[in-house]
Amino acid sequence: MEVNEKRFREKQTIEVMVRMYCKDHHGTSGKLCDQCAEFLVYSHDRLDKCPFGNKKGPCRQCQVHCYKPAMRQRAQEVMRYAGPRMMRRRPVSAIRHLYKEVKHKVMKHKRADPDDK
Ligand SMILES: [Zn+2]
Repeated sequence: MEVNEKRFREKQTIEVMVRMYCKDHHGTSGKLCDQCAEFLVYSHDRLDKCPFGNKKGPCRQCQVHCYKPAMRQRAQEVMRYAGPRMMRRRPVSAIRHLYKEVKHKVMKHKRADPDDK
């Protein structure tokens, strides 16, 4: 898969999850609340800035800490809620794979990116 396409799909995956979470938790429809919109922009920005984006390694091997703590916590909430639901609604292997990638990326990194402090 081309890097750009992979990144695009990762963004789509995140957006689907954020929309699902926002709709059910914040009562929005079609439009994200400010908080979730901020998170989505942040997540997409992280992907754009991933220094390993042009290399072959998957995100689970990524050694860079992507999310600052506040955003990581938000990501965990969104994924905990939307992840399992998305699996049921869109049982597509590509989506499932991307979910694992994104989840791993967010969950496994323990140190904060110095730039984000
Ligand atoms: Zn929201």
